[in-house]
Amino acid sequence: MSYFIDVILPIPVENTFTYLVSEREYGFIALGMRVAVPFGKTKIYASIVKSKHTQVPTIYEAKEIFQILDDRPIVTPEQLKLWSWMASYYMCSEGEVMRAALPKAFMLESETVIKLHSDRIEPNELTLKDDEFLIYEALQHQSELKVHEVMDILDKKKVLPSIQRLIDKGVIEMQEEIYEKYAPKIVKFITLSPQFESESTLNELLNTLSSAPKQREMVLTFFSLKAKKNKPISSKDLQNESGATAAQLKALIKKGVFKTYEMRQDRIGFDGETSKTQVLNSYQKVSYASIEKHLDEKEVVLLHGVTASGKTEIYVQLIEKMLSSGNQILYLLPEIALTTQLITRLQTYFGEKVAVFHSKYSVNERVEVWNNVLQKLDKAQIVIGARSALLLPFRDLGFIVVDEEHESSFKQYDPAPRYHARDCAIVLASIFKAKVLLGSATPSLETMHNAQIGKYGYVSLKQRHGNILMPEINLVDIKEKSRKREMTGHFSDTLLKAIAGALDLGEQVILFQNRRGFSPILECTTCGHAPQCPNCDVSLTYHKYRSQLRCHYCGYNIALQQKCMACGGSELTTKGFGTEQIEAELKNLFPDKVISRMDSDTTRGKYGFEKLITAFEQEQIDILVGTQMLTKGLDFRNVSLVGIMNADSMLNFPDFRAHERSYQLIAQVAGRAGRTQKQGKVLVQTYNPYHQILQQVSLNKFDAMYEEQLEERRTFKYSPFYRLIRITLRHRDYEKIETSSVWLVSVLKQSLGEKSVLGPETPSIARIRNQYRRNILIKIPQGQNLVQTKKVIKRVESSFNAIPQYRSVRLVIDVDCY
Ligand code: ADP
Ligand code: ZN
Repeated sequence: MSYFIDVILPIPVENTFTYLVSEREYGFIALGMRVAVPFGKTKIYASIVKSKHTQVPTIYEAKEIFQILDDRPIVTPEQLKLWSWMASYYMCSEGEVMRAALPKAFMLESETVIKLHSDRIEPNELTLKDDEFLIYEALQHQSELKVHEVMDILDKKKVLPSIQRLIDKGVIEMQEEIYEKYAPKIVKFITLSPQFESESTLNELLNTLSSAPKQREMVLTFFSLKAKKNKPISSKDLQNESGATAAQLKALIKKGVFKTYEMRQDRIGFDGETSKTQVLNSYQKVSYASIEKHLDEKEVVLLHGVTASGKTEIYVQLIEKMLSSGNQILYLLPEIALTTQLITRLQTYFGEKVAVFHSKYSVNERVEVWNNVLQKLDKAQIVIGARSALLLPFRDLGFIVVDEEHESSFKQYDPAPRYHARDCAIVLASIFKAKVLLGSATPSLETMHNAQIGKYGYVSLKQRHGNILMPEINLVDIKEKSRKREMTGHFSDTLLKAIAGALDLGEQVILFQNRRGFSPILECTTCGHAPQCPNCDVSLTYHKYRSQLRCHYCGYNIALQQKCMACGGSELTTKGFGTEQIEAELKNLFPDKVISRMDSDTTRGKYGFEKLITAFEQEQIDILVGTQMLTKGLDFRNVSLVGIMNADSMLNFPDFRAHERSYQLIAQVAGRAGRTQKQGKVLVQTYNPYHQILQQVSLNKFDAMYEEQLEERRTFKYSPFYRLIRITLRHRDYEKIETSSVWLVSVLKQSLGEKSVLGPETPSIARIRNQYRRNILIKIPQGQNLVQTKKVIKRVESSFNAIPQYRSVRLVIDVDCY
């Protein structure tokens, strides 16, 4: 009998692949282990075992595996279930999900390289088989060989067994780094030699050390540290505390006073002080009880609580209660809200039980969190992270919090899997029979709708903590202000007066400028020419502080031009206004105030964002100008005024969610004002003060907004009433994109019905990175079978790919593309 395994490869192919294993390997292999397998002519991949069986594949001859990489599974059965669901729902491959889930260190990627083993015993050449000798000999001349080079040398394809035998004999090894990418951090610790533990020997020691005061002090520091923490003392801590040098420590070790030992240590530890959780206020108590009651009956509950109502404190109470059951807990947040503010808050309550999974962490840090979750260690009982934290190897997940559930950054747009973390979290919870709490001050229409039809439990909390009033939101008509000449640059007199007033009282100000549509461009006043990106259909953006023109889509950049490139004219002006301009204007208007800017330019690097937030928190900054980043659940104590520079571009953005998003954005930014003491003030500058959304948001009428928007969605056939799948075609050749998209639409219409398919439509930026684009939108009414529809789309996709002249056109399918 032959034995086989089916594996998932980290590539965008639909099927799993079957490989041949020996009986012994078959017995050893468990599902979820990594196995290195050959693929194609020369590649070797780390794959994940999905199933084991004895059925000979019929379409191809199964190759042998290369090597088993783990001695226990690193992927859990629940993960395999989730991957399979995600692949089928989001119409991608399980390999693509695997690629998104596994830390890079687990992926055996590049072409595998072999070389002579660094501490080999030179083999007796007579014991080597012919093939083995040829490889061995080749490695005498070349320091390393790729697998396909070995194939050339042996003049055959089946070379892996020979390579494996040489590995087994200790003659050659695979490139080290491919297997051991993950390196644990080793920390040196200090103990006192046992002979000095008695009081008399210790006193003697201190006496003899009186001629070396620094060393003497170090011994004393050792004892004080030990008394304080009762934890292992690292050599680094000892040196820092005693102010001694490495040489002085070394001297004591040499004298036999101290001994050292090494220990693996997690990179991300917590050793601060913890404190008790807050007592909930009376409104929070009511909400808490109501959430508990709903969770008894429903899988998912929505907590709709206004900004600064203390939702986080409610999550904390629920987490505290769930902890005692011993289950794991996942706390999902939008990436950008993953700040030290929140992490510190949770660590203060839950100490070492909190593990953070962050995209800015290094590969090693990610592997550590992965392993800690997989082993169900105490120190990872609560995991907080952005969307990809949902792909960690939980063992028995009991509770998921999705904070700021309306946030668009829960959706991954590129690359596949194009998943929505909130929706996947609900699926993950159902796999574990766990409960989910969604929280937001401005829930998405989809979630509100699900709550309204009773699919989710619904709990609302309308009072801010401490009974502080909701911020007062006023609209400022800048059309009127311009006419009356009451604008200074981009500031209305109303806004300027309010800023000056707040600053006079020693309060802080946040100014918000939407990222979209405000990128400043350079324009020639003579001929009107604005420099364009050669690769994309957009104007280049003017970056003042780098003195550059840049493309935001492909990164193309040129130095700032002194003359117009079209007519040679030398009068150039900037149009549009970004955060940089606002900052510059403010510096002129308030020269003695500290003004900072928070956008993607100023928050690069691991701690860029943190630094700004801390500085603002500590009131070293008077006015903070920023983009969307400012909206994500930040909690500042001294901000009394929030200004929104221009509300119109968000409202006019060509997207069916533009109105919903504008409401959410304005309400969230506004929510940063007046969180702790007095009522905050918000000024929204706009050309359309009578816009319905602005009226609703200024009066805090979320429900009215919801009802009205929902009606529009129903009328115009959008979510939550219709599911949307977008297909984007991309190609360098304009003609090809034209003809292929027309073909695709007509075939889709034949299969799905005339009304269900819209397009092809040219997106607002028709070309990015030299690739032309067309969009096709498929609308699927409620009640229509989703699985069936996706099958049809897949079938059409295959026939599309089978047409030779279209084969090079790239199709990107995005399910729930909003
Ligand atoms: P939300 O997440 O709803 O915007 P937060 O949880 O950030 O609100 O709470 C706003 C502020 O009020 C925070 O500074 C928080 O520490 C404080 N707060 C909320 N509830 C309580 C409570 N029960 N006791 C003490 N402080 C609280
Ligand atoms: Zn470009």
